[in-house]
Amino acid sequence: MAFLPIQIVVLMQLLMILVASLCLMKINGVDLGEELTGGVHGGGSGQEQREFDYFKLALQWPGTICQGNHRCCASNGCCQGSNSLSEFTIHGLWPDYNDGSWPSCCNGPRYDSKEISTLTDVLKKYWPSLSCSKSSTCHGGKGTFWAHEWEKHGTCCSPVIRDEYSYFLTAINVYSKHNVTQVLNEAGYLPSNSEKYPLGGIITAIQNAFHATPELQCKGGAVEELHLCFFKDFKPRDCISEPHIESYLVASSSCPKYVSLPDVQASSRYADTRVAF
Ligand code: AMP
Repeated sequence: MAFLPIQIVVLMQLLMILVASLCLMKINGVDLGEELTGGVHGGGSGQEQREFDYFKLALQWPGTICQGNHRCCASNGCCQGSNSLSEFTIHGLWPDYNDGSWPSCCNGPRYDSKEISTLTDVLKKYWPSLSCSKSSTCHGGKGTFWAHEWEKHGTCCSPVIRDEYSYFLTAINVYSKHNVTQVLNEAGYLPSNSEKYPLGGIITAIQNAFHATPELQCKGGAVEELHLCFFKDFKPRDCISEPHIESYLVASSSCPKYVSLPDVQASSRYADTRVAF
């Protein structure tokens, strides 16, 4: 008679362990599900992530970036006289979600410079590194700017773009078809260290040329980045949805109402400090 309550206690303990394990499995299941499908800002490495919604071609104005960049080395496009600093260059081709987040570091092969050896000359000109610092890769290490862009963004472009060579080639093709520098030059917005241009005018010039609204980022009143957005078939689309354009111009952009496009010369500016390449 005395062992019956003990049996009951043991049975209850077993039951509680079973219930706890079931709860744990459920919790893990939810976490795992969210991790696999949720939109994240900079997720961990090699994760399967929900398919992206659209592409963003991020361009940079080298004049602005190179102004604050005083160190020279072989990889720094700011220091190479052969590179024009008065043309937008590529930062990256980014797959994004409509909610403003983006996938990153998806499943895919690690960066291999051999894969894009035939594109190197074109990439050095239009997708230059503008820094001597190495960038982070998705596997805890450091690598070139191109390695960073492929591993962080390129691996998440699947199923539209599935390999490293296609990623870089596609970005170059989209960039060539949408010549933002030419559009702005033709609208009278030329590189200058004295002129300031209306942000609204720059946006309108891009809208007229590509029938889509870009996104701009500034640093110290100078244009630093200009983003063009595309549907998955590379037809242009707005980066900012229509109802937000006005408020974007007034408040949310890092750009003032009048912005500059600094005219910086690579070769003369770094003539005294250049190292041998
Ligand atoms: P992302 O993660 O694609 O936004 O790129 C940001 C990282 O790339 C940061 O480490 C930046 O310092 C670096 N970065 C951005 N533009 C350049 C550039 N033109 N050259 C070298 N590194 C860059």
